[in-house]
This record gives sequence, C-alpha cells and structure tokens, in this order.
Amino acid sequence: METECVDPVCGKPVLPTAQTPTTECQGETLYFCSRACRDKFACDPDRKLADYAYDLIIVGAGPAGISAGIYAALTDIDTLLVTKSLGGQAWDSTRIVNYPGFDSIEGPQLVGRFQKQLFDEPRLAHQICEVTRIEKSRDTFRVHAEDGQVFQSRAVLLTMGMRRRRLAVPGEPEFRGKGVLEYHDLLAERYAGKEVAVVGGGNSAVQAALGLAKRGARTRLVARSYGADPYLKEEVEAQADLTVLTGRDPVRLEGSDRLERLVVRNQESGEEEVLPVEAVFVEIGLVPNSELVRELVIVNERGEVEVDRNCRTGLPGLYAAGDLTNTFGKRILIAAGEGAKAVLAVAEFLRGKKH
Ligand SMILES: Cc1cc2nc3c(=O)[nH]c(=O)nc-3n(C[C@H](O)[C@H](O)[C@H](O)COP(=O)(O)OP(=O)(O)OC[C@H]3O[C@@H](n4cnc5c(N)ncnc54)[C@H](O)[C@@H]3O)c2cc1C
Repeated sequence: METECVDPVCGKPVLPTAQTPTTECQGETLYFCSRACRDKFACDPDRKLADYAYDLIIVGAGPAGISAGIYAALTDIDTLLVTKSLGGQAWDSTRIVNYPGFDSIEGPQLVGRFQKQLFDEPRLAHQICEVTRIEKSRDTFRVHAEDGQVFQSRAVLLTMGMRRRRLAVPGEPEFRGKGVLEYHDLLAERYAGKEVAVVGGGNSAVQAALGLAKRGARTRLVARSYGADPYLKEEVEAQADLTVLTGRDPVRLEGSDRLERLVVRNQESGEEEVLPVEAVFVEIGLVPNSELVRELVIVNERGEVEVDRNCRTGLPGLYAAGDLTNTFGKRILIAAGEGAKAVLAVAEFLRGKKH
C-alpha cells in the first residue's frame, strides 16, 4: 500500500495513486495534489515567489472559499487560496438535505466533491496554512501566514467562516479533549452503550444528539431552549435512547483524569442536577473568525464582518463572503453562492484597476 506524501508546493497530504500528478526531481518522485501545484513547481522548483503578486487571495476553504476558488479559476483571475483546512463546518454536518442535486448527502461526501472540483482546476494555486495577519499598503495586500510566509495580491476575499462557541464553565479547559468534545460522526462510534450529553438546542446540537443515539449512546440533549427545525424534532421523538432536558443551564464539569459528570441548573427550580457522563459535546452556536481583520474592516456586535450586497467591506479591494459576514442565512448553499458572487465583484474591481 502506498504511504501518504506531502505536496511540496501547498503542503496538502497526498495519497499516491495512478492518477496523482508527479514529477521527478534529483532522482526522487514528487507527488502533487493537483496539476496546478505540479505546474507551479515546474516553473519555480526553488519556490522563490516572494515578490509575486496575485490578483486575488482567498482566505479560507469552506463552501464560500471553495466555490470562490472554482469561480475565480473559471473566470481566469490569477488566484491563490490559503486555508487552514478544507471543507469548513460543512465537513461536520451529518446529513445535508437542503443542497440542490442531492436528496440527502453527508458533509464529508459533499466536501469531497467540492474539493475534487477545486483541485482538478489547474489554474488555481493553493496553500494549506493558517493566515495570521493581513495588511494593506498602497494598492497591495500582504497576507501573512504561519511559518513566516507572506503572499501578496491586489484583492483579498475573506471566507474564514465560524468556529464553535465554548461553554465557558469551570472544568471546560481541564477536560477539553478528555471528555469535552466537538461532535463528529467518527467520534460517535466510540460512545456506543455509554452515557453522554450534548449541550445546545439548535440544529447542530440535535444532529449531534441523533448521531450519538443512533450509534447506541445513551444521550441527553441539555438545552436552555429547544429551537431545532421540526423535521429534526420528529427524528428525536423516534429515538428511544435520546432524552431532551430543556430549561437547564450547564454549571460545571467534574471528574478526575477524565470527565465524569456534567452539573446543570434547572432554570425553574434553581436546583442543581448531576448527570454522570463520559462525554459532553458542546454545540451552543458559533462565533465568526473575524479577529484577523478587526483593525481593517467594520465588525458588528455579533463579530460578523459588515459587507454590502456585493460582498464589499469598507476597504477597497477587500471582500468577504459566507458565514463570516452579516449576510442573512448561515447555510452551505448561501455561503457557496456568496463566494461566487464575491468573485464576480472582485473581477469588476480588478478590471477597473487595469483601466
Ligand atoms: C454541525 C453543523 C451542521 C451543519 N449542517 C448544515 C446543513 O445540513 N445544511 C446547511 O446548509 N448548512 C449546515 N451547516 C452550516 C454550514 O456548514 C455553514 O453555513 C457553511 O459551512 C459556511 O461556510 P463558510 O465557507 O462561510 O465558512 P466555514 O464553513 O466556517 O469555513 C471557513 C474556512 O476558513 C478556514 N479558516 C478560518 N480561519 C482561517 C485562517 N486564519 N487562515 C486560514 N484559513 C482559515 C477554515 O479552516 C475553513 O476552511 C452546519 C454547520 C454545522 C457546524
């Protein structure tokens, strides 16, 4: 069996197959995630790209960034996509029933299709790393990434999306990773036959609770209020191993080496209740990843980057799309659509600059 390699250009892990783009270099076979990376390597094996300025840099590769990347390549905008990870929150969705073309599809499957289209596109350069700072001087943006890398461009599209909110109760920092977890289907298998709790009352929390209960975990959904979509509530009612406790606030997490108990307060009686659990999955909403640009753009009280209907921030050349922004509707389809729209707006901006 072939072992995983790392693409020498973008840093993405690659599993070599007969279709994997390769090149020979000093007697060694190098494997690339896409033809784009192989071509980039062929042009510049030493990767002396320090002064190169792209037309556009996209930061983030959730549905908004991936769709923007595909669109940018199709419209011949010289683009670099820089992202920490691929797929964003869509990766965590257990069952997507609201994306056209699919009656129902799991998040990782949909993301796999997005990625294939993205990496099959030879005109798109990409880099897997975290962006740490963005600055603008005159007409050029400088995008700083981990390891001291700096990329330059004429326009930047921000699609950094959101991350999960923390519980902020005593015990959370100590037991993070030792029983305090974020839900993913792959994790759920481990808790078959065990007592677990999911904190939260929205769609993500209910999807997580259903995922656990379906795999045999004795699951309690602990919520202040229970606001999930009706189709999910119906599924909850059909699950014998899933109990919904509403009107409860988490108070603290207890245990020794690992998490053993979740203590909640009943909002009505004010009394504390102790729930013995091996894991608590925290699904209480999301916060926008806007810290990076708070000095550059207007960020509202929810932490979202304010954009106009053409995805423009107040700073010329700086655009934003998807869940990061104040655009109504946090959905895969909406983020993907906004990413595409932003690229059309960027194309107009770049045309204006060339004239
Ligand atoms: C559990 C769960 C289930 C969901 N189920 C559904 C569903 O069924 N249907 C639906 O329509 N929507 C669903 N959603 C919502 C949907 O996934 C989001 O609306 C969508 O993913 C938003 O896309 P985005 O590209 O704007 O941001 P995100 O998906 O958040 O992607 C952001 C990207 O930016 C990258 N990034 C962040 N910071 C940096 C940085 N500093 N440097 C480089 N890269 C960075 C991240 O690694 C990530 O790749 C669900 C969400 C969750 C959490």
